[in-house]
Amino acid sequence: SPLPLLGAADIRRLAAELDLRPTKTLGQNFVIDGNTIRRIVLAAQLQPGETVLEVGPGLGSLTLGLLDAAERVIAVEIDSRLAARLPKTIAEFRPEKVAALDVVAADALKVTELPGQPTALVANLPYNVAVPVVLHLLEHFPSLQHGLVMVQDEVADRLAATPGNKTYGVPSVKAAWYAGVRKAGVIGMNVFWPAPKISSGLVEFIRREPPQCRAERAQVFEVIDAAFAQRRKTLRAALSGWAGSGARAEELILAAGVDPSARGEVLDVTAFARIAEARLDS
Ligand code: SAM
Repeated sequence: SPLPLLGAADIRRLAAELDLRPTKTLGQNFVIDGNTIRRIVLAAQLQPGETVLEVGPGLGSLTLGLLDAAERVIAVEIDSRLAARLPKTIAEFRPEKVAALDVVAADALKVTELPGQPTALVANLPYNVAVPVVLHLLEHFPSLQHGLVMVQDEVADRLAATPGNKTYGVPSVKAAWYAGVRKAGVIGMNVFWPAPKISSGLVEFIRREPPQCRAERAQVFEVIDAAFAQRRKTLRAALSGWAGSGARAEELILAAGVDPSARGEVLDVTAFARIAEARLDS
């Protein structure tokens, strides 16, 4: 039998039952289109036996789709009313799947422990915290091997951008520390209720080893933040505060094999790692 997924009428009924007024601050735009859910679940390429971490299950649109493709789903939802309602919604539409779901009522930016070891992150993320959520989860849950997230379309472009690209910046470099990142599609506004004012993008990531480097991740991220804080400056100028002086910045950048007159936007994550490492060595 076809997978029962939530449609516009279901979402409206659930929202009415909860007397829910979707808030912008929590990025509450709910998917009301089963085809979009199928598309996301398919793009996530889940293998048999996977435990999926879903951030912001909301009214359960994606959760229902994920429960069909995954062994388990751990759903982290900040809105306690939505978290409390979720198992009931699943019980209503897929009673046999209730046991495969764990709901955690928490802020995904703060979770450091989960009931299980998620192997995949699949989520329609709250847009204003999408990048910090992805980075936080990749950092704290090394069991996450891959993921597929829906974010604001321009954020999707930024996450997946490569050096030299106009949208390449802090999110792109930091994400590249953890994973290979690729844009996997665009989603229109009318598959949501309420409809957002901008399109959404799908981003796929596949975990890889961070660059070989003796500097700590936090030290490398410091260099990245400094390099992009003043986007139009040369690396020498942008990193002078971080290094202590312009001359010292130049020395470290050269030691890393990088041109001090270049801008941060042309460096890949391994170059930033080498600059952080140069400071340890001198
Ligand atoms: N997954 C649902 C869907 O596709 O219909 C809802 C997605 S909606 C874009 C984002 C969801 O994330 C909302 O349910 C919101 O309450 C929740 N949320 C917002 N900030 C959060 C946070 N920091 N941690 C966990 N959930 C959050």
